[in-house]
Amino acid sequence: MNSKAQIFPVAPVAPTLNRITYAMGDGIGPEIMEAVLLILDMAGCGLSFDEIQIGESVYQQGHLSGIAPDNWALLRNNRIFLKAPITTPQGGGYKSLNVTIRKTMGLFANVRPVQAYSPFVPTHFPRMDLVVVRENEEDLYAGIEHQQTGEVVQCLKLVSRPGCERIIRYAFEYARTQGRRKVTCLTKDNIMKLTDGMFHRIFDELAKDYPDIQTEHKIIDIGAALLAAEPERFDVVVTLNLYGDIISDITAQVAGSVGLAGSSNIGQDFAMFEAIHGSAPDIAGKDLANPSGLLNAACMMLGHLGLNEQSALIQNAWRRTLEDGIHTADIASTSPARKSSGTRAFADAVAERLGEKPRSLPAARVRASQPIQIPAYVPAPVNKRLVGIDVFLDWTGASGERNPQELGKFLETHAGKALKLKMISNRGLKVYPDGYPETFCTDHWRCRFVSTDSKLDAWGEGMVQAREVSFLDVLALQSRLNAAGSAIIKTENLYEINGERAYTLGQGE
Ligand code: NAD
Repeated sequence: MNSKAQIFPVAPVAPTLNRITYAMGDGIGPEIMEAVLLILDMAGCGLSFDEIQIGESVYQQGHLSGIAPDNWALLRNNRIFLKAPITTPQGGGYKSLNVTIRKTMGLFANVRPVQAYSPFVPTHFPRMDLVVVRENEEDLYAGIEHQQTGEVVQCLKLVSRPGCERIIRYAFEYARTQGRRKVTCLTKDNIMKLTDGMFHRIFDELAKDYPDIQTEHKIIDIGAALLAAEPERFDVVVTLNLYGDIISDITAQVAGSVGLAGSSNIGQDFAMFEAIHGSAPDIAGKDLANPSGLLNAACMMLGHLGLNEQSALIQNAWRRTLEDGIHTADIASTSPARKSSGTRAFADAVAERLGEKPRSLPAARVRASQPIQIPAYVPAPVNKRLVGIDVFLDWTGASGERNPQELGKFLETHAGKALKLKMISNRGLKVYPDGYPETFCTDHWRCRFVSTDSKLDAWGEGMVQAREVSFLDVLALQSRLNAAGSAIIKTENLYEINGERAYTLGQGE
């Protein structure tokens, strides 16, 4: 940790204010929110509320993010948002409300605890008790997608050092404050060496500050398989946005039902709490929905506000309700309970048990809230040298064939003095020079030009002492290619940053 870094507390943020913004949402949202508000009221939490409209009706009024602009002031003022699920319309330029709120309010940490309540909620893994800490603002969720040629679309995966540092630091601090012993990092850095590679590298760097916490890294594919097959071996799991989204649904379902898990979305100044499931339109309005996911999220909210006694009071009543065989249909269908309760009857049963403790499930712990300290990011000096350019072309030969040899010869004649063509790849696989005629090629070509006196190091791992090129050199190259009839769809500059190659080599290079 940089010793000069400022420290800001992440929780609790407003322990004396306790004014909550809430939204009923769509589908089963109103039913489960009413159930949760009833229990919060009966538990004497002393909260006051402001309601806002979000979701389908707001999208239909023409607000593409599912929230009216004048609601932001209330959200920002109250700082705590209890949100029921919404239905996101497909297509039509609509944006995900969740992604918009997470990014706008800087909610960088998505925390999803998943626990078994066996034998009352049937699961194969009675000792399962883990927490997924998901990065919440970056990765493929930037929503930057383009169609570049007739055949190829792309989605940009953006990962930043400050983003990695704060989510990984948060996961370690969370583990410490919650008395957890191990943090597992999941990435796909064997394939995505710069993006996932940075996440893994920062995990290893920060792990040194937490010698009391056991650490491990796994590739996401085997990690997800183990979460499904042996979830009891995990404690805290930290991962990138998309992987975290997927594994938190897997783990919730493995523990018994997606209807049980709540989540918190935590930022420096603001926090949002919600169930992990969606609006379940298939059971909406039928008094079938399980309010437990939103209720567990509300208990996380109480903990965030420092209302630990009330949080434990509700969790214990809820556990006792499960033990008494009072289950909504999603749980009852798999459990020994004879008949299921409706959403409202389940909420009434929890409210009636406030003050009771579970008989065999562990009682919820009352933990004094400890603010999690995350250092503000301090940018490090960066020495950047431009050493080449990847030019992406939309190309099919005049004969209708896509022969990399033809494209390579053409590009070599236009490379100029400052730059030389190093290679061409198609969908990431090097096809020129060399390559095989069997390789299928689309109309999308990445053509790498590097400075003329760049040398490969002894292992072919990359350039050493590459000569710097000017931006005018790479612009002049593009002008020549354009004048010769090439269709440039985009370019990426190739840099050495702090003396290291800052781009990957193509497969086969
Ligand atoms: P879903 O989570 O709504 O439903 C999946 C399945 O789980 C359904 O069979 C449903 O009946 C069941 N289920 C979900 N919650 C339940 C509960 N509390 N009790 C009992 N059963 C429950 O997922 P989906 O069907 O893929 O998505 C429906 C809509 O929700 C979509 O429009 C989607 O975009 C949206 N969504 C919203 C959020 C959110 O607002 N945070 C999250 C995920 C999905």
